[in-house]
Amino acid sequence: MGEHAADDRIDGARLWTDLMRLGEITEPDLPYTRRSFSTKFLEGREWLAGRFRDAGLAVRIDEGGNLIGRRAGCSPDAATIMLGSHSDSVPGGGRFDGIAGVLAGLEVARALRDAGVALEHALEVVDFLAEEPSEFGLSCIGSRAMAGALEEDQLEQQRPGGEKLREAMRRVGGAPERLGAACRDDVLAFLELHIEQGPVLEARGLDVGIVTAIVGITRLELHLVGEAAHAGTAPMSGRRDAAVAAAEIVVAIRDLARACDACGEGYFVATAGVIDVRPNAVNVVPGEARLVIDARCESASLMKRFIDELHSRAAGIAAASAIELAGFRVLSDNDPAGCDPDLQQILLESAAALGRSAMSMASGAGHDAAFVSRVAPAAMIFVPCLGGRSHCPQEWSEPSQLAAGTEVMLEAVLRIDRGVRSVNGSGR
Ligand SMILES: [Zn+2]
Repeated sequence: MGEHAADDRIDGARLWTDLMRLGEITEPDLPYTRRSFSTKFLEGREWLAGRFRDAGLAVRIDEGGNLIGRRAGCSPDAATIMLGSHSDSVPGGGRFDGIAGVLAGLEVARALRDAGVALEHALEVVDFLAEEPSEFGLSCIGSRAMAGALEEDQLEQQRPGGEKLREAMRRVGGAPERLGAACRDDVLAFLELHIEQGPVLEARGLDVGIVTAIVGITRLELHLVGEAAHAGTAPMSGRRDAAVAAAEIVVAIRDLARACDACGEGYFVATAGVIDVRPNAVNVVPGEARLVIDARCESASLMKRFIDELHSRAAGIAAASAIELAGFRVLSDNDPAGCDPDLQQILLESAAALGRSAMSMASGAGHDAAFVSRVAPAAMIFVPCLGGRSHCPQEWSEPSQLAAGTEVMLEAVLRIDRGVRSVNGSGR
């Protein structure tokens, strides 16, 4: 495998031109915006489908509304190697989040065609439907469908204006009444290239990050009840100020999250992003406070320890100031998704073979790969982005950085195809 130079086959300029062209398809008043299910989104997809066809891919939209370009393999029974990400954006987002992964997959397909390389396996490039949270209050709609994880009641969810998700999916070419057919059991390997959306790779001057796991996200709600009082007449000594207890708990969350992150069991972050004080008046000692916490971790057992420890610390802080911890509950909780160890190894070896620097790292953001990993071995390649910025128009990666990540993906596809893994998927 060492003799070929995969970097000769990636056309970084062609990849870049496509990225900038798709970025031009945006809501004109709010660059760069292609909200899923919108007219601009469909316009972007039509353009993408055309680029897929130009690359010789057979184009279809699956039952889950995913746009798929397929290149046949030599061996008709062989499983599929799948590459992809999403082309929808947040409002006022960037040109790279998601889109880079779809177009990198396309560039891999084109590079193989141009080099006359026939793969044993079929290769698919996927634009997953609605990865970003949409007006239907749900993210990763297409990859959920592919994993068999899109539920009937979710299809009934409506957006403002009354359209149901199932209707919207039909409108973009999906077939929600036959959703089971979108679920895949033929995928040998799934690779998603994505901008890091964080500062680590840039700060360390590295070419790629190989993702170990996509964090699980737990949201917790704490409710503290003290006693509202006159801000002028209630002496400092006897107060039952719920905001003070909330503030101490916010600091405890930070300290505990730092300790969890440092304990060697994986990436850990926690944020008290909602602090709601009642009655929220300048001359009233706060009688109640509510915190909503977002905690993310690549280890389910570490998350459980964090929740237990936070519960006990919050109870202690509350008790010390005669505050009642009236509520402590998990609002939502999803498990971390581990990336396939064999695929991580192949990606690390591919980067090394190409002379590209790499590190293993967790993903603190959710991705389509998390759902795909439920039905197929999945892994991710991160490329650096300027200042770690994302979900904003300033989002940026250099053409050379995107090309380097795409080279690594191409090299990994070649290695996967030539039997580093068995056709039946050794890692399943
Ligand atoms: Zn994304």
